[in-house]
Amino acid sequence: LEQMTALFDRMSMVGSMAATVAHEIRNPMTTVRGYLQFLGKKEKYQTDKEKFELMIAELDRANNIIREYLALSHEKMVNLQKCSLNDIIEALFPLIQADANSSQVGASCDLSFIPELLLDENEIRQLLLNLVRNGIEAMQAGGDLIIRTALLESKVVLSISDQGSGIPSHVLEHLGTPFFTTKDTGTGLGLSMCYQIAHRHNASIKIDTSEQGTTFFVYFSQPTP
Ligand code: ADP
Ligand code: MG
Repeated sequence: LEQMTALFDRMSMVGSMAATVAHEIRNPMTTVRGYLQFLGKKEKYQTDKEKFELMIAELDRANNIIREYLALSHEKMVNLQKCSLNDIIEALFPLIQADANSSQVGASCDLSFIPELLLDENEIRQLLLNLVRNGIEAMQAGGDLIIRTALLESKVVLSISDQGSGIPSHVLEHLGTPFFTTKDTGTGLGLSMCYQIAHRHNASIKIDTSEQGTTFFVYFSQPTP
């Protein structure tokens, strides 16, 4: 974790400059994409249709990387407010369920009575969605996703469990490293974002993984009444 924090400190030093550059790169990319789409529809280019589609898909991939990088690198002011984690989960659940169902995965919640926490609602939503998305993507062969909240030794714990095939140790040791991904179309920024968000909430992330599935735990160490 210490290593991670040092890495993020370094990232935020060059971060604001890189963010500006990243932002500026998107404008010309949009122009190029527009013309590719326009030209690709012309009669005389129909034999090269796939090449145009590939160029557009690659631009979209680059654009996704930039979008996620910007979300990660923007110097964010946390806006901590006393609120209910269960309410945030419940409000987001229809979206999560739709996302899961469209990937042939089941989703459910098991929420316990927990005290209110100081949270940045937008950030917690982002953290939930990133962990949920990873869980769904890990269950290519189907399964169930469960979101739980619990009180453990008077600390609030959020957990997201999937029934995917688990995280092998050679992957586990790289988790949270920005841009580390094992997916063809992954950005490798989802978990980095989660670690940052957890850090800003004085929370820590623990992982329990086996061939039967993976659980990400988020331990909030805020004092509870
Ligand atoms: P991305 O999802 O774009 O690959 P992430 O930072 O969200 O980037 O995740 C990094 C890597 O961690 C993934 O590529 C995957 O190999 C692994 N991973 C994360 N969550 C899970 C999970 N629930 N089950 C299996 N592997 C996971
Ligand atoms: Mg991800």
